[in-house]
Amino acid sequence: MTSSINADLHCHSVISDGTLTPEALAERAKAHGVELWALTDHDEIGGQQRAATAARALGLSYLSGVEISVTFIEQTIHIVGLGFDPENQALQTGLRQTRGGRGQRARSMSAGLEKIGIHGAYEGALKFAGNHDLISRTHFARFLVESGVCRETNEVFRKYLTEGKPGFVEHRWASLKDAVRWITEAGGVAVIAHPARYKFSSTEEFALFSEFKSHGGQAVEVVTGSHTAAEYVSYAAIATEFGLAASRGSDFHSPLESHTELGTLPPLPAHLTPVWELLAARIQHLQ
Ligand code: AMP
Ligand code: MN
Ligand code: MN
Ligand code: MN
Repeated sequence: MTSSINADLHCHSVISDGTLTPEALAERAKAHGVELWALTDHDEIGGQQRAATAARALGLSYLSGVEISVTFIEQTIHIVGLGFDPENQALQTGLRQTRGGRGQRARSMSAGLEKIGIHGAYEGALKFAGNHDLISRTHFARFLVESGVCRETNEVFRKYLTEGKPGFVEHRWASLKDAVRWITEAGGVAVIAHPARYKFSSTEEFALFSEFKSHGGQAVEVVTGSHTAAEYVSYAAIATEFGLAASRGSDFHSPLESHTELGTLPPLPAHLTPVWELLAARIQHLQ
């Protein structure tokens, strides 16, 4: 498989904070020309069987996927895992621990919003969560839009759900080392998700890439819905500098909220090694 295949290796279903089912996402991916797909729900692999089955029925090649929440130098970052064995017990236990604090965090977020006169946010957000274990800031954002507090989810994040804002609660997620280990020991490849989104200094970013690599991480998202065209170029250079393969994914969540449609991003720069070259043996029902 070459870098020119239409691979979309990052998106979310109702199993985390997306609004479509795994089956609807598979159909949408197919309709937009995706040839190799991965569903990467946050901290949860409960949708993998459904996604793989739906992909098979559509003649779509599939890689298992997940997006793990990690705390690195006091910041939340995301590590995507691709091509692992979903039955792996250590991975399942690690993910269960990682999502375990979400319920309490959501109650604290709701208490913070209560103080500024926004009532019932926990119950409101829960209504939007297809999987109550995975209650996330996105579900709060949807509730605040529904109740007319904001016009769109981006505005909710800016005003209420980011650091220093009333609904923000500090949270400790998995360590970088554990997340990379869970993925790689389950036979998969760990990928740094959307690196341009993090607010690291260049020294901190260097530490992230170096430590990621030393723990066994092998790839970075270069072409993602979260990057600008200029960022494709800068992270292509970083991939080369650190000897990492490159990944491509829309990070699609919802037809109404997502600005990047499945399968519509530009191809990876041709000089990079596509992450799927490292995973050829793990691709299910290769066409
Ligand atoms: P959580 O894991 O609960 O902290 O929620 C993180 C999720 O919130 C991310 O995966 C995105 O889907 C969403 N998100 C983060 N920042 C924004 C933003 N500025 N606008 C819209 N959604 C966002
Ligand atoms: Mn999300
Ligand atoms: Mn992410
Ligand atoms: Mn994502």
